[in-house]
Amino acid sequence: MPNGRGGGRGMGGGSGMGAGRGRGGGNRPGSGPEGDCVCPNCGNKIEHQVGTPCYELSCPKCGTKMVKE
Ligand SMILES: [Zn+2]
Repeated sequence: MPNGRGGGRGMGGGSGMGAGRGRGGGNRPGSGPEGDCVCPNCGNKIEHQVGTPCYELSCPKCGTKMVKE
């Protein structure tokens, strides 16, 4: 065994690849619990209010219960 693959070191660089933080705030609009509520009857859209499900809102135009878009 003439000194085969002796190099045990070199691959162990534990640090250096640590990137991965800083990006990806995950705060982009369009995803998540926010969005619009839409009236299935007349198509009117209103802004979804956080904490209030769409189906608890009534369309200001026709009074139909709103649904999540
Ligand atoms: Zn409506």
